[in-house]
Amino acid sequence: MKGRRRPRLSFVWLQACSGCEISLLNSGERLPDLLNKVEIVYFPLLMDRKCGGEGEFDLPEADVGFVSGSVSSDEHLTLLYALRRRCRTLVSFGTCATHGGIPALRNRWSAEATLETVFPGTPGQPTLPAEVPALLDRVYSVDEKVRVDFCLPGCPPHPETIAAVIETLVTGEQPRLPGKSVCETCPTIRTGEMHRTVRRFLNNAEYNSEEPVERMRCLLEQGLLCMGPVTVGGCGGPATPLCVQARVPCRGCYGPVRSEGNQLLDMLNVLASHGVDHRSIVDRQSLLRFSGAHGLLRSVRKTEGVVLMSEKGNKKSS
Ligand code: SF4
Ligand code: SF4
Ligand code: SF4
Repeated sequence: MKGRRRPRLSFVWLQACSGCEISLLNSGERLPDLLNKVEIVYFPLLMDRKCGGEGEFDLPEADVGFVSGSVSSDEHLTLLYALRRRCRTLVSFGTCATHGGIPALRNRWSAEATLETVFPGTPGQPTLPAEVPALLDRVYSVDEKVRVDFCLPGCPPHPETIAAVIETLVTGEQPRLPGKSVCETCPTIRTGEMHRTVRRFLNNAEYNSEEPVERMRCLLEQGLLCMGPVTVGGCGGPATPLCVQARVPCRGCYGPVRSEGNQLLDMLNVLASHGVDHRSIVDRQSLLRFSGAHGLLRSVRKTEGVVLMSEKGNKKSS
C-alpha cells in the first residue's frame, strides 16, 4: 500500500441494511479529511458504478476492501470471491459480516423452510420470483468463506472507530480494537446481589430518571437479560455503552468478546455462576441474536417440538 498517494478503497455489501456504511458517513468532521486521503473506487451507497455480469462481478482493484453483511446467497458468494481477488486487504465490516448478525437468525430454519415461508407455493415448491438468487444452505459470516485480514464488529461499528481503522489501514498498519466487554465500560452500580430469575424484556429497569446512569443499579443484577458480560465493547466510543445510556439492557450487537466466542454458552455460564435460573429465559437461542453464523445456530428439527411458520402461520419455538 505504501508508495500510493491515495490508497484505493472498495465498499461491498452482501446481505446488509446499509447501516454500517451510514455509520461511516456519520463520522462527522473527520470524514472530509478522511476522504481526501483515499480514493473510493466502489461504494454502491454513494456512487453508481455498474460491476455486475453474468455470474461474475467486475470490481475495480483496491488496496482495502470493506465488506458488510452476511453471506446468504450464491450471488453474495460470487461477489465476495470477486472482492477477495481484487483487494489486498479485506475487512469484515460490521457484525453481519463478522458473526452473521441479524440475517443469521434464519439459521434456525432450513433454507427450504425460509423460502416456503417468504414465497409460499405448493408444499416443498415455493413460488420464487426469477430474480431471487439461490439461498445458501445457511447464512455464513465472511470469514467462513474467504480469508479475512481484519474484523471490525458492531451493528453498526461506531463512526469514530471506523474512521480510526481506515486511517490506520491506509498507512499499512494493523489497527487495534477494544478487546474489553461492554460491562467494562459500564458505570452502573454493582452490589454482587443478583435477581435469581431472568425477567422478560417487557419489564422496565428500576432507576430514577432525574439521576445520572452512574446512579442506576446494574441491569443484570435487576434481573434483566443484559448481554454486557459476553459482548465486546466499543458501541459508546469512550463513553457509556449506548443501550445502558438509554437504560435498556445490552442485546449483544457487537458480538462476542473473543471473536471465536459463543455468546449463548458464555452468557449461560455467567448466569449459572451467579446462581440465576437459566430456565427463566424465554428463548435461549435469542442469546445468539447477533452471532448465529459459524454453525452456532442450527436448524431446529420438527421432532424437537417446533412447528415451522410455513406450516402453521405462527412460529412456536422450542
Ligand atoms: S451489522 Fe448491523 S448495521 Fe451493519 S449491515 Fe448488519 S444489520 Fe446493518
Ligand atoms: S450487565 Fe449490563 S448493566 Fe450490568 S454492568 Fe454489564 S453492561 Fe452494565
Ligand atoms: S449496549 Fe450492547 S446492544 Fe447496545 S449498542 Fe452496545 S453492544 Fe449493541
